[in-house]
This record gives sequence, structure tokens and C-alpha cells, in this order.
Amino acid sequence: MIQIKLHNTKTRRREPFAPADPAHVKLYVCGPTVYDRAHLGNARTVVVFDTLVRLLRHLFPRVTYVRNITDIDDKINARAAETGEPIGEITARTTSWFHNDMAALYCTPPDIEPRATGHIGDIIALIERLIARGHAYAAEGHVLFAVATDAQYGKFSGRSPEELLAGARVDVATYKRDPGDFVLWKPSPPDLPGWDSPWGSGRPGWHIECSAMIHATLGETIDIHGGGADLIFPHHENEIAQSCCAFPGSELARVWVHAGMLQVNGQKMSKSLGNFRTVQDVLGEAPGEAVRFLLLKTQYRGVLDFSTAALAEAKRELDRFYRALEKHADPAPAATPPAAFIEALADDLNTPGAIAELHALADAAMQGNAASAASLRAAGELIGIFNQTAGQWFRGDVADDARIDALIAERLAARRNKDFARADAIRAELAAAGILLEDGPGGTIWRRA
Ligand code: AMP
Ligand code: ZN
Repeated sequence: MIQIKLHNTKTRRREPFAPADPAHVKLYVCGPTVYDRAHLGNARTVVVFDTLVRLLRHLFPRVTYVRNITDIDDKINARAAETGEPIGEITARTTSWFHNDMAALYCTPPDIEPRATGHIGDIIALIERLIARGHAYAAEGHVLFAVATDAQYGKFSGRSPEELLAGARVDVATYKRDPGDFVLWKPSPPDLPGWDSPWGSGRPGWHIECSAMIHATLGETIDIHGGGADLIFPHHENEIAQSCCAFPGSELARVWVHAGMLQVNGQKMSKSLGNFRTVQDVLGEAPGEAVRFLLLKTQYRGVLDFSTAALAEAKRELDRFYRALEKHADPAPAATPPAAFIEALADDLNTPGAIAELHALADAAMQGNAASAASLRAAGELIGIFNQTAGQWFRGDVADDARIDALIAERLAARRNKDFARADAIRAELAAAGILLEDGPGGTIWRRA
């Protein structure tokens, strides 16, 4: 069997990957905070882990992929205060946008998608456990994690105690014993979402949500924990502190995988810098497959600079692959992708190396080798490209089923949110592409006109 190697942030080394139970790989990835549309940077992380999951599923009999939805957060509350829209509507709509956008990039849904609001009981129980073990304290309606009680704190992200102190905010809240202590629970005024707790009506901090959801869905020690590299500190450092102090002897995750940042003109793409392009917006410019392919052309740990020119180039490369498939009348995929392709992916998800194999297969197919065309299709499908026939690709129909289903789901969500203008716009967009919708008691079905 091919051996996967992954760079483990915890050991700062590339290591052979061996799940605790070879029959069942357990993986958790930090998901979105749902208050706004996903941008391409968010999408990069999702596409990277979707590709890792596809590889794991190819090599292991069972994989459980958990990705959460953070639907309690100050940013969500701030958005509701700004727009006057109820929080539940903001989070429901943003979650359905996220699902549709990721489906349009051919990301398979996680097996379990816990929402923070669905795990308040688990979060409170975890906080009580930390208090009972002397790692957390209640003060003025807040509960804080006492970093001084965890000798390991800072090791994961490689921060020294001085650096940790320097990082803590200047005007330290009076209820903190140590400036580095972080919030597990905070009080909620009546106008904000709050839940009854032993510390009064309040809401959880962000970090404890993930620790509780991991424990509830996968247990004490999982195989792989993933997220963007910007989450290493403080989010993942804090997740480790909480989980390992609550469950001594556990590790939280044996391997930590972090995706590099997507940049624009040398700067991280982010909401706060305003330099972001939403997935939805970019999908108006190129097919989902081209966006996905662009995100995979750079190895996941590297910095990826997004540009319209790079997106157009990714689309041209896919054109070339589809021409090679077309030459062989769109062959069925080979039973399994070539070993060299899998080996490249297994080598710390070396997608550029794997894509070089695709080019070699396309060359051979163009020179008449039918087996190479079948291998090309099998290899591409493994990383989530070739979701359509060459004919569909070159016609540029909206056209592939996943995109249609995504738009229908978005239309449904829009109608639920009484955004009838958006719902009608989606119906019109699909009609223009020759897709007719029929609403019935069992939901919406579609057919080609
Ligand atoms: P957020 O909704 O901001 O909590 O981010 C959700 C996920 O997107 C996290 O895993 C982040 O690490 C990731 N992320 C945010 N910005 C970028 C970026 N520019 N490049 C790659 N990943 C990002
Ligand atoms: Zn998390």
C-alpha cells in the first residue's frame, strides 16, 4: 500500500501517516464562521482538505470527516446589530450559501457538520470539567482558561512565555488572573443570544466550541486536525490546551495539517483588508472546476497568489485535458489512477506533482494512447475535476448537475428568507441556460428544456 506522508505542524516534520485505527481515519477541520459569503481564501482551505479526504478514502476503508459551523460569534452578533436581521436568519442563509459555493467547487460535504448552537450542553460540560480540574475559573460572569496551569501552553505554536505576554492585549480585563488567559464563556446581555449556565446567561468563546464538537463527534484523540495556517495561534494552541487539560493523557490530534494563505498582490486575502473575491463572484468568471484546479496547482503549504490571469491559465489547462479526453470519445475512467499520480498526492499532498502526471497522461492520450485517456479521467476524478463530459465542458453549459443543484438549493433558501428577487434571478439564470424548474410538493425538480 502507498504510504501517505504529511507535514505535521506539531512536530514540524514530514511524517508517515498512520491512523490509530487503520480501519477508520478520523479527521476534523475548522469550518466557517457564518456571517458572510465565503471568499477564495476560505475556499482554498476547504478544497485542500476535500482533496486530502478524497485521497484518504482511496487508501483507507473508512474516513469520518467532521467540519463544523461556527454559528455563535461576536462577528455574527455585530452583523445582526448592523443590519437588524435576526441572527438565526443570518446564520441559516450564510450556511446555505457556503454549502452551495463549496458544492460548486466539487467539495464533498463532511460526514458530520456540527453546529456550535447544537452543542451548548457539551460545551458547558467541558468547561465544568476544566474548572473541576483547576484549569479554569469563573470571574464576573466569565469563565477563563488559566494558561499558567498548563505547562505545555505555547509549545504547539512555538511561542515563548514572553511572546505570549506580548501578544496579550494591552488593556487587560480586571477579571483575568493572567493577561494570556482566554475566554471559555462570557455573559450575554438580554439582546444577544444566551444560554443558561452555572455562570449565568451567556455564550461560549470560539476555541471551546471546537474542542467540545471534536470530543462529541470523534472522541478524545483524533488522527488529523486541519485548518488554515492563520489558526495555529491562538485558536489551535487553545483547542489543545482545553482538550488536553480536560482529558489528561489524550492528544486531541496526532497530526496537525495547515493550509497556507491565499494572497492577492502579496497580501493575505481577508475580509478586513477588503481585498477579497467571493467564491460566488469568481464563479461568474470561470467554471467551478477551473477555480478548484487553480487552488490545487500550488502545494497546500505554499502561499498561493490569486489573479485573474492565473484563473484563465487554469481554465486553459483544463481545456487541454478535456481535449485529450474528447479525442478518445470521453472514455470511462480506468479502474484506478496510475501509481505515480497517487504517490505524488501521498507525498504531503503534492498536487503540482500530481498535476504534472495529468499533463503527461494528456500528452500520451493526444498521441493516441487510449489507456492514458482512461487513466487521465480516473486520476482527475480523484482530485475532484472531470465532473462532466468534454462536450459539456466545451459547450460551457452552466450545466453540470452539481452547479444546478447548488443554485436550486440557494433559490430555496432565498425564498425561505423572503428574498424573492434573488430567487427569481436564479430561476432566470437557469432558464437562460436551458434548465427549467418545476416546484412540487416533494421539492423542486429540474429538466433540460
Ligand atoms: P473564518 O470564517 O475567517 O473563521 O475562516 C474560515 C477558514 O478559512 C479558516 O480555516 C481560515 O484559516 C481560512 N482562511 C481565511 N482566510 C484565508 C486565506 N486568505 N487563505 C487561506 N485560508 C484562509
Ligand atoms: Zn477550530
